[in-house]
Amino acid sequence: MSCILIPRGKAKDFMHKKTSINVLLIQSDAENTDLIETLLAVAGYEELVLHNAGSIEEAQKEFEAIGCDVILLDIDGPKFSGSKTIRKLQKVAPMVPIVIIGKREDVLSNAISELGVHDYLVKGVGDGHLIARSIRYAIEREQIQKNLSYLAHYDKLTDLPNRELFNIRLKRGLARADRSQKMLGLMFMDLDRFKEINDSLGHAAGDELLVMVSKRLQRCVRETDTIARLGGDEFTVIVEGVRDPDNVAQVAEKILNVMKEPFVVGGQEVFVTPSIGVTIYPLDGDAAETLIKNADTAMYRAKEEGSKKYQFYSSGMNTRAHERLKIEAQLHKALERQEFSLVYQPKVDMINGEIIGAEALIRWINKEEGFISPVDFIPLAEVTGLIIPIGEWVIRNVCQQIRTWKDKGLPEVRIAVNLSARQFRQGDLATTINGILAQYDLTPDCLPLEITESLLMSDKDKSKQILNELKAMGFQIYLDDFGTGYSSLSYLKKFPIDALKIDRSFVMDIPDDTDDMAISSAIVAMSHALRLEVVAEGIETMEQYDFLRNIGCEEAQGYLFSKPLTASEFEELLINPPDFSETIDQEKTLS
Ligand code: C2E
Ligand code: MG
Ligand code: MG
Repeated sequence: MSCILIPRGKAKDFMHKKTSINVLLIQSDAENTDLIETLLAVAGYEELVLHNAGSIEEAQKEFEAIGCDVILLDIDGPKFSGSKTIRKLQKVAPMVPIVIIGKREDVLSNAISELGVHDYLVKGVGDGHLIARSIRYAIEREQIQKNLSYLAHYDKLTDLPNRELFNIRLKRGLARADRSQKMLGLMFMDLDRFKEINDSLGHAAGDELLVMVSKRLQRCVRETDTIARLGGDEFTVIVEGVRDPDNVAQVAEKILNVMKEPFVVGGQEVFVTPSIGVTIYPLDGDAAETLIKNADTAMYRAKEEGSKKYQFYSSGMNTRAHERLKIEAQLHKALERQEFSLVYQPKVDMINGEIIGAEALIRWINKEEGFISPVDFIPLAEVTGLIIPIGEWVIRNVCQQIRTWKDKGLPEVRIAVNLSARQFRQGDLATTINGILAQYDLTPDCLPLEITESLLMSDKDKSKQILNELKAMGFQIYLDDFGTGYSSLSYLKKFPIDALKIDRSFVMDIPDDTDDMAISSAIVAMSHALRLEVVAEGIETMEQYDFLRNIGCEEAQGYLFSKPLTASEFEELLINPPDFSETIDQEKTLS
């Protein structure tokens, strides 16, 4: 029983109107239909299509058959008076705005404030324009509400649930898990080096990547599971109906698998590695907050471990997370409290044992925590961005020190500094360093730069460009920790590098590990073919020295010669050079 309300002569126009509005009029008797029809017709609202229903059941049928944009409900008849009708309607047709019609304005206006009705019309008041306006107003209000509710619950970029909705879904999921006597898995995931990608490719590309990641994520879960984006590159997955934690491990592996393929962003291939932390309800905790904290902790652990990219939470992890937070808080204050210092580890010529320079290594003695190793705080400084001011502090101090030694007339030495990824990616690294060098009247040749292999490989084109720039200015580039990452010598050809530093882990096992020895020999041979010098770091014994010298390493560094020294200790060494050749057994090594 529906009728279309078209003013005579306008039928043709109407056929071409795309935006007709379906109005469902619900009332006990049809007496008002004609009136409303007539009023609207007179006013010329051809886009309003009127449908009728005499009961909630009929309304439901109409609603299912044609959907409807707005409901007009006459509350005067005995059938539809009272709040029950409205509540029922809101269930049958959620999200459909309701305009009520009645004789008594006070009753009508009450319903607006108390029942979530959108607008009302008083019988006998107003014309077709008023009815049409009321209908439009109700629809608009509903639309705004929908938008607001969407904004409040979804992430605009990826269309995934946001933190708000994630929290709601998690609580509901926990309740469902209780009822069904099953477990629930909660995963936290973020992308390693996302900030770097974002910084180097730009935010638009970063956004594009996040959207692609979210699409791939959706392929890994069932419809009953929830994927949410909490912000940045942080995603969560709620896995429901879990019988065995193994199920959740499978989902984690699936996610790692789908992320392996490169993403093409802004015309460039990008690889991302996610780190995933997993926690299981009720095994690891019984409150949403605890589970969230656990999953986050496990994720950080996965990141630190590096090799295994997903980690299940274990209770021991909390203390570590605590530690990290404590260190981070201290790190923010370390510069201004002048808690950093530098030590210098001599680099010697492999053949004659002469000191040719040193590597500057940062030291941090914190007022509360005491000595903290750079291995522990440099990664934190990276994540927090503090590496930029800290790195600059290192360069400035090294330059100042070189200037002091020069002024004292000591033999010229080159002091190498370590650069970490974030510093390297920073747009104006070359300018910064050059500025500092100029300030102390120094040239780039006295400041070799050590960078790690993984840093180069993470964004080859950009790395190459920055290296070329630095190289052109006259800096020497050392590739640090070689052998721990990609170890692709063929790639190295493409980078303007001067020397490799064979990682300490290879040197350590000489002469016990014949594989490591074979690898070291191969690295040296190939490096020489590529005209790269080779430095061996972490030499502690004569055997190691003998071997490395015999295979042709040019420079050496390690406790065998010297531990890292304070500036004045190193100065002492420069003034009275020790005769390392005594340490070095010439006879044996030259054989
Ligand atoms: P790295 O650049 O590979 O530095 C060599 C590390 O090996 C230093 O540890 C050094 O003390 C240690 N080492 C040298 N010879 C021996 C040896 O014979 N035996 C043993 N067992 N160890 C030896 P350190 O000072 O703890 O530095 C660790 C890492 O922290 C460095 O590795 C470097 O990656 C980073 N780092 C240190 N200072 C800085 C800095 O100023 N900036 C940046 N970005 N990173 C730094
Ligand atoms: Mg180094
Ligand atoms: Mg190293």
